[in-house]
Amino acid sequence: MTYIADITQMSDLPLQANERGFGCFSCGQPLETSAVRYDGKGGSVLLHLRCANEMGQRLIVDSWTHRRKHEQAPS
Ligand SMILES: [Zn+2]
Repeated sequence: MTYIADITQMSDLPLQANERGFGCFSCGQPLETSAVRYDGKGGSVLLHLRCANEMGQRLIVDSWTHRRKHEQAPS
């Protein structure tokens, strides 16, 4: 994830860009200046800073709770 101070200066467009501008990948509300950008294999998305913070915490909580379910036994 990368902090973007001014999304209007980005040279490439993330997935959710459209003719109305940018909407946050998480909440869908408009993004106007700064954002957090996440680059994945299928493209990039932008989030409000508060939404990125919340998503990060949720990812940690969800993955931490279930972290041992798919571990491979040591060989
Ligand atoms: Zn948002």
